[in-house]
Amino acid sequence: MRVIVVGGGIAGLGAAFRLREAGHAVVLLEKDTEVGGRCRSVLWNGVWAVTGAFAFLGSETNLTEQAKKLGIHQPDQLADLTAAHQWNVWVKRKQAVHFGSFDLLGAARHPFIPFGEKARLLATIPALARQVIAGDPRDITSAAAFDDVNACAYFRRYSPTFVDYFLEPCMGMFCGYGEDDFSLAWTVWSSSGRLSWGAKNIWSFKERGAGRLTWALGEHLRQDPGCDLRLGQAVRSVHPQGQGVRIETDAGTVTGDAVVMAVPGNHVAGLMPELDDARRAFFDSVDYAGHHIVYYLLDRPKGELLDTYVLPAADGFKRTGNLRFTDMGNGKTFAHSQWKDWGCRRHAGASDAELLDIAWRDVVDVLPELATTRVLDSFISRQPDAICKRPKGYIAGLQRFQALGQLERVVFCGDYLSNSTVGQSHWSGMQAAEQLMELA
Ligand SMILES: Cc1cc2nc3c(=O)[nH]c(=O)nc-3n(C[C@H](O)[C@H](O)[C@H](O)COP(=O)(O)OP(=O)(O)OC[C@H]3O[C@@H](n4cnc5c(N)ncnc54)[C@H](O)[C@@H]3O)c2cc1C
Repeated sequence: MRVIVVGGGIAGLGAAFRLREAGHAVVLLEKDTEVGGRCRSVLWNGVWAVTGAFAFLGSETNLTEQAKKLGIHQPDQLADLTAAHQWNVWVKRKQAVHFGSFDLLGAARHPFIPFGEKARLLATIPALARQVIAGDPRDITSAAAFDDVNACAYFRRYSPTFVDYFLEPCMGMFCGYGEDDFSLAWTVWSSSGRLSWGAKNIWSFKERGAGRLTWALGEHLRQDPGCDLRLGQAVRSVHPQGQGVRIETDAGTVTGDAVVMAVPGNHVAGLMPELDDARRAFFDSVDYAGHHIVYYLLDRPKGELLDTYVLPAADGFKRTGNLRFTDMGNGKTFAHSQWKDWGCRRHAGASDAELLDIAWRDVVDVLPELATTRVLDSFISRQPDAICKRPKGYIAGLQRFQALGQLERVVFCGDYLSNSTVGQSHWSGMQAAEQLMELA
């Protein structure tokens, strides 16, 4: 087969790699000048700064397998971020709280949560655990029973402290989610088994950070004569026809036997004019939360600053999710501030300079001692479509979409089909390749 892969994020790269392993010819079309999509790093002031994904979950073993195949999974090349994720949470009482794994048991053990709330929280565990144990965390059907329940509303009945100081900041930090954006199904699914943002086995690459993986995949495919990697080629439309597919790009027409659609879910329908109404309805319902990252180089050593401050919305931090500080060892500090969805949307029309200015004012709001610090340099990675939202009813919609079955020459992959992580998206790309090969 000659397969066209549209989109060179981790999903498209995973699909292309798997197809090449099986000996199929691949044309990979990526609109940017580098592959990686939302999992990419740039060199900035001598530091590899991620523009999207920051870390991988040890539980998503397909990523470690992929890294092994690329020869980049050597102990000296990997950074274990577990310790760094023993977060310090910034709370109303201006008290630094040690934040361990994001799970109910961890929260129930925590001294900050009042005893009565803990007891009520623990009472929810058997029901949730039954759900988790019953199914494969990758299988969305195992979570469908909880799909119509809003996680914050559910847990707030048992422990408002857990929601305001654990669940919301944690989700806000990684996902830019607002309270209405995640169902209980998604929360259970995310915090169970292999998907857990637990305190163990969170890893990245020392050099280049998370973007090392997509960069190495891109290099591998670039050197592979069986893969035609075309960067800077935006696809305009995709047309399944007769025995193959025709794809219009801004550089001309590309044809093949089949296509892997590996673009974010909210872009699919716009690229496929002949798509049927039922599938179009699903893709039109896919929505993403924004998540910007703002980087600063500060003219001061880190000193007393904590590694991480998580800013709960309960304390009025609706825009900035967290702040992180790293000592550069040369009297300077590398800092980044992460924006939640609410802030990204609210200031969507602002220029980069305006956003940088607002973000710095948020930093000073939290840490007034930085008011006199000189910012030597800064940049913003704007990600208006960062993390696929999981509102109530999403899983039911996804199930309806999956029940429609497969198209003959088109397969889909991406984080909207599974969980919004690099590992899950990569896995969906591998699945898409397998589906095509079964059909062939
Ligand atoms: C700020 C941020 C932080 C995150 N943190 C984490 C984290 O710590 N851990 C984690 O696991 N996940 C994290 N994520 C989520 C993770 O990055 C994504 O779920 C994952 O990278 C999605 O991969 P993808 O291949 O599905 O999509 P993408 O990476 O978006 O890839 C799609 C590709 O398609 C290309 N494309 C789009 N339209 C066209 C077109 N018309 N023609 C050609 N090419 C096109 C795009 O340029 C892109 O390269 C984060 C995301 C963001 C934005």
